[in-house]
Amino acid sequence: KGLTKYFPIKGGLLSKTKGWVKSLDNVSFTIKKGESLGVVGESGCGKSTLGRTLLRLLEPTKGEVYYQGENVFALDKGEVRKIRRKMQMIFQDPYSSLNPRMKIGTILEEPLRLFNLGSEDERKKRIDDLMKIVGLDSDYLNRFPHELSGGQRQRIGIARALLLNPEFIVCDEAVSALDVSIQSQIINLLQDLQEQFNLTYFFIAHDLSVVKHISDRIAVMYLGEIVELTDKKSIFEQPLHPYTESLLSAIPIANPEIQRKRKRIVLQGDVPNPDNPPTGCRFHTRCPYTQEICKSKKPAFNNVNEGDSSKPEHFVACHFANELTLNGVEGIV
Ligand code: SF4
Ligand code: MG
Repeated sequence: KGLTKYFPIKGGLLSKTKGWVKSLDNVSFTIKKGESLGVVGESGCGKSTLGRTLLRLLEPTKGEVYYQGENVFALDKGEVRKIRRKMQMIFQDPYSSLNPRMKIGTILEEPLRLFNLGSEDERKKRIDDLMKIVGLDSDYLNRFPHELSGGQRQRIGIARALLLNPEFIVCDEAVSALDVSIQSQIINLLQDLQEQFNLTYFFIAHDLSVVKHISDRIAVMYLGEIVELTDKKSIFEQPLHPYTESLLSAIPIANPEIQRKRKRIVLQGDVPNPDNPPTGCRFHTRCPYTQEICKSKKPAFNNVNEGDSSKPEHFVACHFANELTLNGVEGIV
């Protein structure tokens, strides 16, 4: 609710604060139990900051995070410990998040030991079970991270996230560093696990084609804000934000006849600097549909289907959401 995160820019001899990187600005949304919410946007748009703030790994400058009604930044130490177990993270690069000097077995035992869970035998059993669940032979427990492939390491990252029976998992670019064929294996595994353990995912990626398989709903971020949020089918087939349209135009589709007719929307200019975001609509410096009002007035983030229960919620921040006719991609989700 209203999540805002500014990071100080330090500089000069006394390390004075020269300015602020506005990494997240007034972001509000809900994640439903058991769903998978995909989050896309260019690097630096605030996706990871948002994911880490949800897990209480970063303190927001403003705003709150509620987990099943509890304000997670207002919990005491004991309650934080409890909630910690329920909320886990899977990282982009398991190699840098796995201690290179520890064997896989020790890495997986650590969280159980930290939380004082089970006897030594019970921990061993739990770890063996998890290795099976993520599709790895228990022999790997005696190896070091560098002896595993990228895909195998990510399976270890997933096993570690599952150890404490979590409910909610932030997957931060969990497949971005992997080859495409391995990506789909890992996405399939994550989907199986979601069903098996009734998990809720916040699934971050920089690419719509990656989140396409795993998401129920998709949030599109631009410069620290969510600009569009709705179910996957609507995002792909009836986008309402010009930025979403441009992301969709970059996805190649298999049918050559349709692909030939499609127009790639190439945005002009670079992503503006997040320490000095544009006034009004932050997308106005690059939006193909920009008008005078966009430069001065910030569009509200509203549900265009408010009051119509026959349609899915469709949040969008654009002054012209009801007037523009944007192109989606039919038939790929
Ligand atoms: Fe483009 Fe204006 Fe809509 Fe922003 S508010 S996305 S600049 S049309
Ligand atoms: Mg990131």
